[in-house]
Amino acid sequence: MRIYLDYAASTPVAVDVLKTMKPYFSEKYGNSGSLHSFGQEAMAAVDMSREIVAKAAGVDFREVIFTSSATEANNLVLRGVIRALGPKRQLSSKRRKFNGPAYRIIVSAIEHECILETVKDLEKEEAEVIYLPVDKNGLVDLKKLKNSLNERTILVSVMYVNNVIGTVEPVKEIAGIIKNYKADRIKSDWPYPLFHTDAVQAFQYFDCGLASIGADFMTLSSHKMYGPKGVGALAASPTGIKLVKPVITGGGQEFGLRSGTHNVPAIVGFAKAAAIAVADRNKEVRRLAELKNYFCKKLKKIIPSSVFNSPAASAPHIINVYFPGHSAQDLIMKFDLAGIAVSAGSACSVRAARFSHVLEAIGLPPERILGSVRFSFGKPTGREEIDEVLNRIKIIFKKHE
Ligand code: PLP
Repeated sequence: MRIYLDYAASTPVAVDVLKTMKPYFSEKYGNSGSLHSFGQEAMAAVDMSREIVAKAAGVDFREVIFTSSATEANNLVLRGVIRALGPKRQLSSKRRKFNGPAYRIIVSAIEHECILETVKDLEKEEAEVIYLPVDKNGLVDLKKLKNSLNERTILVSVMYVNNVIGTVEPVKEIAGIIKNYKADRIKSDWPYPLFHTDAVQAFQYFDCGLASIGADFMTLSSHKMYGPKGVGALAASPTGIKLVKPVITGGGQEFGLRSGTHNVPAIVGFAKAAAIAVADRNKEVRRLAELKNYFCKKLKKIIPSSVFNSPAASAPHIINVYFPGHSAQDLIMKFDLAGIAVSAGSACSVRAARFSHVLEAIGLPPERILGSVRFSFGKPTGREEIDEVLNRIKIIFKKHE
């Protein structure tokens, strides 16, 4: 029996989600932009899905923009906020004094590649980028954040839960710091900096009400919550939604913010998955925290030399482990041969076979980075499965010791 422990990379589509999606492939297949009844049927499904995702994100109907992925949603916010300002915006005399790009964006050093590669691209011309360092637990340096906020800062982007080690960032505190910074600017109607959080790994386990976090934007991904791949969303605050411009232009779907014919089955499935995730959230967070604790204790008994890279207070579904004297690539192959699917870091970085920038940022030495494996748990993971995994690990390590 194969055992999947890579739920942070992707999740299976839930049975109820698939059932909800099915009619939209070959029965209700209209284009949501068409005026006839087929089109209206599709549009009604998109509208209903938008209501559900908006409720789950604590925003209004018009503040949800469906995208093809979290990657696209992250691109939309980073590039779209700059686009809305325009490169030639007249800056106040104080802001004009700076002799570099007009805008500053602040991100954490451990963001997902789709944030880091995008800001790297923006760094070429459009923006100056400040990378916030993290401590050994992966927590962002709030002092550095406070010191980095300036007149030119238009966006701060810090993820809610890190996908490699599971660190839960203090997003509410970050929102508070930005709010205080704005409040100190007496009589200014300048609405920046805006705050964005990538909540892809958080949504299943933590409250993701945009207003309760205090963020202006939040990114979600369907395939990390038992929905289909190829669909995500950017949720925005009433202020945020007015301050973003489209990156993909065309037929004007998504209130003009993301053109392209709606992927109706995927959107319907995403909404169903989001509703289930919210309903199951409290139960799942407790169940998985217990399971992870059990796994860690047993693993440490079987392989006493193993070291946990994830902080004690990490998200319940992720545990990153260092196995001294082993290479992660090698271990992943051995695990795979034994029927266990795990990951070296984030799924996207496997093919590139490079150092995990996250493990590097928390200060781990090269040999530890190269010997670390990420286990991630999900809804189908139970005690029996964990016991079986531990048995197989024991055998793998006995064979190779
Ligand atoms: N952000 C985080 C934190 C992720 O873990 C991932 C996927 O690994 C993404 C963004 C990208 O999501 P998508 O596959 O929907 O583009």
